[in-house]
Amino acid sequence: MKKNYIILLLFATLLGMLHADFSILVRGESKAKNLPETTLNSVRYVNLDDFSSVFKAINKHDRTDGRIYLHLYDEQFIFLEASPYYIFKNESFNMHYTLLRKGAKLYLPSVFISEHIKVHFGRMVELKGKTLTIDKPRDNSVLTIVLDPGHGGKDPGAVGCKLKAKEKDVNLAVCLKLKQLLEKELGLKVLLTRSDDRFVSLQDRTRYANERKADLFVSLHTNASKSSQSRGLETYYLSTAQSSEARAVEAMENDVVERFEGGTIAKNKYDDLAFILSDLSQTEHLESSNMMASNVQQNLVAGTRAYDRGVKQANFYVLRGAFMPSILIEMGFISNPEEEQLLVNQEYQDRLARTIFEGIKRFKFRYDRIRNT
Ligand SMILES: [Zn+2]
Repeated sequence: MKKNYIILLLFATLLGMLHADFSILVRGESKAKNLPETTLNSVRYVNLDDFSSVFKAINKHDRTDGRIYLHLYDEQFIFLEASPYYIFKNESFNMHYTLLRKGAKLYLPSVFISEHIKVHFGRMVELKGKTLTIDKPRDNSVLTIVLDPGHGGKDPGAVGCKLKAKEKDVNLAVCLKLKQLLEKELGLKVLLTRSDDRFVSLQDRTRYANERKADLFVSLHTNASKSSQSRGLETYYLSTAQSSEARAVEAMENDVVERFEGGTIAKNKYDDLAFILSDLSQTEHLESSNMMASNVQQNLVAGTRAYDRGVKQANFYVLRGAFMPSILIEMGFISNPEEEQLLVNQEYQDRLARTIFEGIKRFKFRYDRIRNT
């Protein structure tokens, strides 16, 4: 009897060892965190939310197409519900077990932790038995922001009728003021796609933001219309253009590709694969981009008392390539004589910068909270 009991106990211990939870130790911390394991269809899994909380990873689920985006150590994984495959750095990997959904919860095969992570992150993660020692996960707050003064150099952008003010100069002036506020008052790292009067292709603008791993991308422009009566402010985030008016603005801003970047050949370059890839990455950020656009637009309108043209969606090339929440602000109509006068005015430029800053600050506060809990 006693013997049987011991055997049973041994068996239970062995079983327990097989099914022991993962233990995650962050380098520099003394207490390990527990990552529970569970068996589903005789395969070992961990709950994706548990995984994300222990690794400080961000996971976002696109219900419409079953894609799951996971951000870990500044890198992005794209999983597909009910599929064993995932995409990492544009390559696909096979876990041999499918990512499972049970009710509202998603489960990641344990093999991803025990075998795949170390392949992607090398010495940053170390597995011994069921204890994983990892580098400290990154702070997910907004830390770096890329400001993009539209146009520049040979491309003046829109030109005013009365004072012949050039859009490129207004965009740069406000960006430089905004940079100062973001650095001084929020301690952010602010990078500019251009800090003087030079031409930068649309593709290079977002490539720069992606390479620097920026958390936000903000493009500044001024609007123009055939009618000198058109007025007001509007803020865009990426999508297929909704209204015919939005399509007109989109055509105008995208025109840079036609006129200055080598016409149709260059346009094809933006249209095929690059678009699919950037679309993949942008859909993930649509909600956040929309939130940032709303916060900025509200503050702009309240602070400048300019006419509110609202938050809109359009398919700008310059936003397409950005793998982060991104917006494009049209700060007023340079084609409207009254607004042109305001746009070149230093004090008005200060007010534009201040109100855009307040909008970004409000957005950052909410966004940081969502991403760090
Ligand atoms: Zn423009």
